[in-house]
Amino acid sequence: MLFVDTHAHLNDPAFDAERPAVMDNIFAAGVGKVVEIACAPGEWAQGVRLAAAYPGRVACAFGVHPEYGKTFSLSMLPELASFMSLPCAVALGEAGIDYWWDAGTREEQLALLGSQLPLCAKFAKPAVFHARNGKQPGQNAYADLLASLERWDYRPARKFRGVLHCFSGSWADARAGLDLGLALGVNGTFTYKNNHGLRDTIKKAGLENIVLETDCPYLPPQSARGKRNDPSFIPEIAARVAAEFGVSLEDAAQKTTANAFELFGQF
Ligand SMILES: [Zn+2]
Repeated sequence: MLFVDTHAHLNDPAFDAERPAVMDNIFAAGVGKVVEIACAPGEWAQGVRLAAAYPGRVACAFGVHPEYGKTFSLSMLPELASFMSLPCAVALGEAGIDYWWDAGTREEQLALLGSQLPLCAKFAKPAVFHARNGKQPGQNAYADLLASLERWDYRPARKFRGVLHCFSGSWADARAGLDLGLALGVNGTFTYKNNHGLRDTIKKAGLENIVLETDCPYLPPQSARGKRNDPSFIPEIAARVAAEFGVSLEDAAQKTTANAFELFGQF
């Protein structure tokens, strides 16, 4: 069985004290491949170093998360493009809209997203999207992100042109995302006791449209809530996916890994 963690932040300082041991443990757990998300200018070179240390096992997404918008300016686009051109680059991202944290105005966030998106078509790579709704009515990150993607011109050779990572939206958001050619990222939140609505939405979306992720060091599955998350928890998330879909763990692994390769290509 080969599992893929499609969304990890292994360069987070939470791993600094024991990164090599964490990496060994990931591979021992059957998670043979990881997409490292380098989503701030200060993380791009770190992502390259991690991928170089684990060739064929760690690939990278490069981009600017809305929370890091203030560390980026348009003059840095050529630098981002040069990272996107590297062999270890499999996607742009994560990029998107966040109304939960103070990540700038709607207009600023849409501009930051819009400045990065042309790199997908330029390098024939998908995008990893972040969307988090705010607490106030009308702060609908999914609606604003999905509406802006109506005009996105990237057309991939494979099934998916991007992923709504850490999907937490409604069924209407999921449906709109699928119609736009986006996969849905399923992580530890899928295992949380009271998350029935998310499980129903993901089941409706279908096993053929989901990829597994951790978003580590955040969002560990139910058994490890409050602790540091890492990609070795992917089999636990996969087991819950298998149970909910009524398939074997092998099937869940095989299908979600195939989906990850439809999204990022084989790496
Ligand atoms: Zn992330």
